[in-house]
Amino acid sequence: MSKIKNIVVLTGAGISAESGIRTFRDTGGLWEDHSIEEVATPEGYAANPELVLGFYNARRAQLSSVEPNPAHTALSRLEKGLIGQGGYLTIVTQNVDDLHERGGAENVIHMHGELLSQWCRSCNHKFKSSESFTLQSQCPKCSAGGKVRPDIVWFGEMPYYMDTIEMSVTNCDLFVSIGTSGAVYPAAGYVQMARGLGKQTLEINLERSEGSHFFHETRLGKAGELVPAWVDEVLNG
Ligand code: NAD
Ligand code: ZN
Repeated sequence: MSKIKNIVVLTGAGISAESGIRTFRDTGGLWEDHSIEEVATPEGYAANPELVLGFYNARRAQLSSVEPNPAHTALSRLEKGLIGQGGYLTIVTQNVDDLHERGGAENVIHMHGELLSQWCRSCNHKFKSSESFTLQSQCPKCSAGGKVRPDIVWFGEMPYYMDTIEMSVTNCDLFVSIGTSGAVYPAAGYVQMARGLGKQTLEINLERSEGSHFFHETRLGKAGELVPAWVDEVLNG
């Protein structure tokens, strides 16, 4: 690969797998034994809000028992290294965990929301919290009860920061996808956008993703091993 300065990395559940957070396509399309319809759609929330709040409470509580793995810390090293060379790294993650940040990365875009962010549907206020929520929980701003939902983008809802992400892809030299099955759009379509703009593209995943053929290069294996090695390559030119 020729010398690259600006990189966009798109990450998915696979980059957090070695930290002990389960992905969902590996487990037959279930997320911690629940169907996507049940826990990751507005309809699922309307049908059984207690179950959905409990599901995200459990995912949020799990964060305190997991640690970033070598793939997360390598991306933080890449961010600092690129800045030192006059470039930059944008991490676009589909993950709702906070392991990129805890691994030291700063420029992280959570396109599908965050477990540590909550959203009041009464006054639209968003706030950070690591606590558990029930149907009785009150909004800290307007005090409405039963209106606080996880600030997670569910299926059928619009992902966040799409303009910023498209601008980042437009301005990058290299687009890299790590640990994602390539099944969830619009994230899965960014490789085609990058290709259309003449960018270099690389995929790092345990197995070929659904859009694997769109990438110039695919490296198959564990993110915790392949990402640090790739970061060394980039920073050493
Ligand atoms: P996915 O579960 O659909 O796919 C994960 C991919 O990672 C698979 O292709 C798998 O082969 C690969 N993988 C598994 N272990 C790996 C490893 N050690 N190294 C490299 N690759 C590995 O995940 P997705 O594409 O991110 O889509 C799932 C959706 O579910 C996302 O939108 C996300 O919001 C949500 N989700 C998030 C988390 C999290 O925040 N950690 C966990 C589960 C699901
Ligand atoms: Zn409110």
